[in-house]
Amino acid sequence: MPLDFEFTKEQEDIRLTVREFAEKYIAPKAVEFEEKQEVPKEITREMARLGLFGILFPEKYDGLGLDPITAGIVLEEIVRADITFSLAVAYLVHTSWGYVAYKYGSDEFREDIIRKAAKGDIWVGIATTEPGAGSDLVGITTTAKKDVDGYLIFGEKAYISGVREAREKGAWFELGGGHVTLAYTDKTKQHKGMSLFFVPLTDPNITIRLEKEFGRKGWSFGSFVLNNVKVPETYRIGEEGRGFYIAMEGFDHARAYIALACAVGGKRAIELAAEYAKQRRAFGEPVATFQGVQFQLADNWARLEAAHALAYKALWALKMEQEGKIGRFEVTKIAASAKLFAVQAAKAAIDDALRWFGAYGYTEENLVALALKAVKSYDWAEGSLDIMRLIVAREVLGKEYIVRRR
Ligand SMILES: Cc1cc2nc3c(=O)[nH]c(=O)nc-3n(C[C@H](O)[C@H](O)[C@H](O)COP(=O)(O)OP(=O)(O)OC[C@H]3O[C@@H](n4cnc5c(N)ncnc54)[C@H](O)[C@@H]3O)c2cc1C
Repeated sequence: MPLDFEFTKEQEDIRLTVREFAEKYIAPKAVEFEEKQEVPKEITREMARLGLFGILFPEKYDGLGLDPITAGIVLEEIVRADITFSLAVAYLVHTSWGYVAYKYGSDEFREDIIRKAAKGDIWVGIATTEPGAGSDLVGITTTAKKDVDGYLIFGEKAYISGVREAREKGAWFELGGGHVTLAYTDKTKQHKGMSLFFVPLTDPNITIRLEKEFGRKGWSFGSFVLNNVKVPETYRIGEEGRGFYIAMEGFDHARAYIALACAVGGKRAIELAAEYAKQRRAFGEPVATFQGVQFQLADNWARLEAAHALAYKALWALKMEQEGKIGRFEVTKIAASAKLFAVQAAKAAIDDALRWFGAYGYTEENLVALALKAVKSYDWAEGSLDIMRLIVAREVLGKEYIVRRR
């Protein structure tokens, strides 16, 4: 199948609208996200007003009804304006997991939650990780027990993005938010006994605890304890026992967007550092004239160009899969490859670019320094780089060559 993601006029118009918004509202405040450890609520409210939280949901449910490539174009503009990645997390997690919740949610769920998520009144996060299990999800202990017309969920989720923003009603989002949460409905069946639920973090039977983050401090990260939280049956996403598989699909989406965010964030860091290197002089010359700097710039830029193209290939693959033209595992392989490559390319590029600033690179007001801390999160978030390697190896070699260690 020919690879084709040429941008349409509509997509370019959307890019310009988002760029205007991002340059006006986001870029001037990005350094403050880190200092204040939050993004201003006006920004998420304005993103909601523009419909950006509804980008993939069908118009029938108050969304914009657009595709993953267009969602990627929006993400590019958000990242260019904020390389602390806080708003990238807010946008890409909701876009990926909100879509999966829509796809597998019941009609009642769509009417109730998806409509609000599309308007940006509810933020959608993801909660698979626990204190005792991250990569190996079979090790989770959260359970969902059937109760009259619903489920009682008991357990603890850890290292989860957006817990504070989902908890507080009337703040970043009118109604707070909730997380697509993985739990056992039948522990004896291991991954085939897992189910997914939408769990509103505003529930009084949930307590949250915030972690002190290393980077991207504008969007919270922490744990939440579910003390017999009652959710209606309509909040189950997909059939009982299908939760693990649906979660894997959600990861494919998130990884494709992360790859794009890393490629674009890396390029932006190089641009910012290059501007500085043109002004800053050493030994009578602008730092940008030194070949040591130029060669680093060229090697990193070339890798980021490749990462950028591969990220769009992953978004295109998601679109093709939605249209029934390619299979799920093909998407999984491309998305994992894209994340694996882009995270490493971005980390190397940002690290090199930061050096061109000299000592000024080691200050908290330097956006490139903040970007370096932020991309580090993608060593793990939405699946570690080692797990990406395992997936690619499995898809290329065949399942029979993957040793099961349980
Ligand atoms: C900033 C940030 C945000 C996050 N947000 C969320 C969120 O919103 N929701 C959520 O559910 N989770 C979130 N996570 C958690 C993330 O998904 C996990 O960190 C990740 O899945 C890895 O799990 P772990 O941390 O338990 O590491 P472990 O699974 O304990 O792994 C430890 C190390 O061993 C390696 N490893 C594990 N298994 C293998 C293997 N088979 N082969 C080779 N190496 C292996 C891993 O790569 C890792 O380096 C977030 C993490 C971070 C850092």
